[in-house]
Amino acid sequence: MKLPQFEYSCPEKLTDAVALLAAHGGEAKLLAGGQSLVPILAFRLAAPSLIVDLRKLDELRRIGIAADGIALGAMVRWREILDNAELCAAHPLLAAAIGHVAHYQIRNRGTVGGSLAHADPAAELPCIAVTCEAEIAVLGASGTRIIAAADFFRGPLTTELRPDELIREIRLPPWPPQRRFGFAEFARRSGDFALAGAAVFYDPDDKGKARNAHVGVIGAADRPVRLKSAEDALNGRAVDEQTIAAAVAACAAADPPDDIHASGAYRRVLLGTMIERALKSAGARD
Ligand SMILES: Cc1cc2nc3c(=O)[nH]c(=O)nc-3n(C[C@H](O)[C@H](O)[C@H](O)COP(=O)(O)OP(=O)(O)OC[C@H]3O[C@@H](n4cnc5c(N)ncnc54)[C@H](O)[C@@H]3O)c2cc1C
Repeated sequence: MKLPQFEYSCPEKLTDAVALLAAHGGEAKLLAGGQSLVPILAFRLAAPSLIVDLRKLDELRRIGIAADGIALGAMVRWREILDNAELCAAHPLLAAAIGHVAHYQIRNRGTVGGSLAHADPAAELPCIAVTCEAEIAVLGASGTRIIAAADFFRGPLTTELRPDELIREIRLPPWPPQRRFGFAEFARRSGDFALAGAAVFYDPDDKGKARNAHVGVIGAADRPVRLKSAEDALNGRAVDEQTIAAAVAACAAADPPDDIHASGAYRRVLLGTMIERALKSAGARD
């Protein structure tokens, strides 16, 4: 299908990209990897007057690994995350989750910023962002804002971004080496968006009991969320069969929506299974 007509601009400076957004007052769209935007245009779900291509903005391609955490520029592609051994070692939960994103071809083009801005409730990176308490740095006409991931996603394809703002980078807190983690998801076919998924981590204390448990889930709501009830079931306990069963039972607090892909009741069962698998893989790691 042919795309609707639009003007095209490919700025060489970040400030020029922001100025274009500000000048077009919501009528402009940013182009990153194009893996979601191009189908959206083809299906006439959006008809922007201007496309602002981000591909020349090298400052959005930065991968920073430091003692105070990890920064991923908006134009970092999935393939660049998975091919970066230092990054995968510095944040193994991120690497585990991104390994489930889409298909080979899409991973070569899709970007961090595109995924966060697109805000698909089933996408992996938004789930990791919420689970790990990431911050999202956005730049607009009035300067930089730092938005907590938990506040960034407002619902399906809806975020806190203002029309004149672009995502600059996502910042993930440092990852202690002894941390236990697991990621599991279920999709009908490999590479499809997940029907349900779970990202978990905890820091074992000197008796092996879980502290600082974080359980983030895909498929429980219209955006990625943390399941506090499951975290409460883990904190202060050895992560054995009984504790895992309690964390799974805590999924009863989730109220997933029905949609064309699955009923809410089915998703709730899947969520429990994903949490169980993620916790078992966390326990199995050295
Ligand atoms: C068949 C298929 C299967 C897929 N499966 C998965 C999956 O399993 N898991 C998953 O997570 N994703 C999946 N995706 C999505 C894909 O991985 C990309 O993350 C997604 O398409 C968006 O990234 P992009 O770089 O292509 O963004 P684009 O398509 O270029 O842009 C998407 C949106 O983000 C906006 N945008 C882009 N960059 C910025 C920025 N820096 N600041 C503000 N707004 C910005 C655009 O204006 C647009 O609205 C799939 C896509 C397809 C086509």
